[in-house]
Amino acid sequence: MTAPLAGKVALVTGASRGIGLAVSDELRAAGAHVVRLARSLTDGAADRQSDFHCDVTDAAQVDRVVGRVLEDLGVPHIVVNNAGVFFIKPLEETTPADFAHAIGVNLVGPFLVARALVPHLVKRGSGHLVTIGSISDHRSFSGSAAYGASKFGVRGMHESIVVELGKTGVRTTLVSPGPVDTDIWDPIDPDSKSGFTKRKDMLRAEDVAEAVLFAVTRPERTAITEIRLLPTGYSARS
Ligand code: NDP
Repeated sequence: MTAPLAGKVALVTGASRGIGLAVSDELRAAGAHVVRLARSLTDGAADRQSDFHCDVTDAAQVDRVVGRVLEDLGVPHIVVNNAGVFFIKPLEETTPADFAHAIGVNLVGPFLVARALVPHLVKRGSGHLVTIGSISDHRSFSGSAAYGASKFGVRGMHESIVVELGKTGVRTTLVSPGPVDTDIWDPIDPDSKSGFTKRKDMLRAEDVAEAVLFAVTRPERTAITEIRLLPTGYSARS
């Protein structure tokens, strides 16, 4: 059987670990050539894989990578805006720099990547923009003024892009997971605190990757605009 993404190019931000790495591996296993972006990656290539050092908050770095990808591999078929940061801080402890950092990585980054690539997808008349949101893009949690603002913001951007792309042939999906057991939780150490989902009860990065693969492998007539995933039995506390 032919791999479902054979011949396709997928670009994934924040692909050095966690959900982004799992998404990259899943798309590559499905036959895609995967372009991975992260600050801790260095430029390099392997079989059906290209890596780029890139800070998604820096427009010049995003434009450099996008230029290289267009030149070397052509217009990607799948773009996954995944890179993100997370912290929990009460409002009075959230510094302006904290707030700007969350907005920069979680909202400005996806904007810069979408702005640089989506026009090329539209020109071709096909492609898929996937945004990794969060349960925090539609529910509010204490200590989450910065993160919640960034994720509600990325939902707003997603919904606007859905309307803007209309009948261009380009599809868009917002994937909004509840807690996923990745390194992002290390500074919080949820197992040691009450009120948090324990790591063993969280989703796995692979669960999110499977959701992304599902969305991008539907027939062209089907637009999966949103996927929400929660650990079974999850009940959010705030
Ligand atoms: P990790 O901390 O495991 O991974 C984050 C990734 O983002 C890394 O690859 C990191 O790479 C990259 N990254 C961070 N800052 C930048 C930057 N400025 N430029 C480029 N890449 C960057 O987190 P997760 O895998 O858990 O999270 C991935 C996404 O999923 C985030 O958007 C997060 O908000 C979302 N999410 C996570 C949930 C969870 O419970 N884990 C739940 C819901 C949503 P590097 O450091 O090398 O740059």
